Amino acid sequence: MERYDLIVIGAGISGLSLAHYCQRAGLKTLVIERSERIGGCFNSHSFSGDAAGFWLELGAHTCYNSYGNLIGIMEQCALLDRILAREKVSFRMLVDSGIKSIPSQLSFLELFASVWHIFTQEKKGASVASYYATIVGKKNFDRVFAPAFNAVVSQRANDVPADMLFKKRPRRKDILKSYTLVGGLQTITDTIARNPGITTMTGTDVTGITFDGSSYRLTTADGTTFEATTLALATPPPEASRLLQGVAPELSPFLARIPCETIETVGVAVQKDALRIAPLAGIIAVNDIFYSAVSRDTVPHESQRGFSFHFKAGTADQEGKLRRISEVLGVKRETLRHVATQENRLPSPVVGHGEITDGIDRLIAGRRLLVTGNYFAGMAIEDCVSRSRSEFERLTAMGYR
Ligand SMILES: Cc1cc2nc3c(=O)[nH]c(=O)nc-3n(C[C@H](O)[C@H](O)[C@H](O)COP(=O)(O)OP(=O)(O)OC[C@H]3O[C@@H](n4cnc5c(N)ncnc54)[C@H](O)[C@@H]3O)c2cc1C
Repeated sequence: MERYDLIVIGAGISGLSLAHYCQRAGLKTLVIERSERIGGCFNSHSFSGDAAGFWLELGAHTCYNSYGNLIGIMEQCALLDRILAREKVSFRMLVDSGIKSIPSQLSFLELFASVWHIFTQEKKGASVASYYATIVGKKNFDRVFAPAFNAVVSQRANDVPADMLFKKRPRRKDILKSYTLVGGLQTITDTIARNPGITTMTGTDVTGITFDGSSYRLTTADGTTFEATTLALATPPPEASRLLQGVAPELSPFLARIPCETIETVGVAVQKDALRIAPLAGIIAVNDIFYSAVSRDTVPHESQRGFSFHFKAGTADQEGKLRRISEVLGVKRETLRHVATQENRLPSPVVGHGEITDGIDRLIAGRRLLVTGNYFAGMAIEDCVSRSRSEFERLTAMGYR
């Protein structure tokens, strides 16, 4: 049986950032990932054939200079010189089969009549719909802001707590305001995982976890066992709940209370000259079978353009999705030869979510059981890294072994 100081389950940015902090503190760290690739929502897919060398983000696509903890890790991984500026192109809306600018869809009269509420409205305790409809006006919200927020969280955003969506954070003036990396954001997760201080196992299913009062013992599908004094869960909450059923039965139901949404992403690479759509950052859909299509026009390529369409789960089969993509892009279905798919899972928090996460924190206090993910302060990459950092600091305060 192999012994580690820390075993992390889940190799998305939450699990890998936690592994990064812990290995730097000298902990022998193992990361176990169920799928065949690491990165989770970080997936910079590389195409082949005549689209070889072209990558497209099938999940997260943009980082900001306000992502201080992430930037700290990038600095420690010597990644700052891989930062890439994003072309200044805008998101546009798909309205009545036409691609329109966002301002063209707004009622400025309603906006000016409502915006003063920003000084009196409390974000805390409000939902996205109740907070923003007051500030921008009900019609503007329904027509423009609700679809835009749905695009941000790749699901219906109306009931999400308003304070989980956008956050004011200090900005690093020496870093570009918004950026990606050479090769895409997966460069970050790949680089963290390549650190020799972190052992990463992919395609590995944990089938059992026990705790004898001082060590966690994990069994995987092939019967191998691993032992560690600290266990970290960095999977979506339903999986964390399932994994903890035996070892933390009082915590498991809290995690099970957090609903999750599956997003079915289809990415396509298309020859530039086959498209007539002007360069854009992405397309916000209104009442469609997809929430948004994020484009690679932010990092132009000499021959290819790429779009990741984030579909609502179960609304169409693969052929139906490709037909809708060809309609939106105005190309023949046969043009879509370079296709990549990915399922992303995101939490769907609603107002009152803080009580669940407070409950989780109460139950893990004083235990060498760390829980991280995108369902604590928010879903943004920096929220994940900040949570991992605070869990690492909690462990530091307890002592590592
Ligand atoms: C389409 C999309 C676009 C986004 N764009 C942005 C953006 O531009 N900027 C931004 O800041 N944020 C963005 N986000 C949000 C952000 O990317 C995610 O919240 C974040 O990457 C989630 O990281 P995570 O590690 O918590 O979860 P995940 O990335 O989901 O990782 C969890 C990992 O756990 C693994 N796992 C699950 N079950 C098990 C198991 N039983 N055993 C082992 N492993 C398991 C999964 O396979 C996965 O690899 C976006 C999200 C999506 C979906």
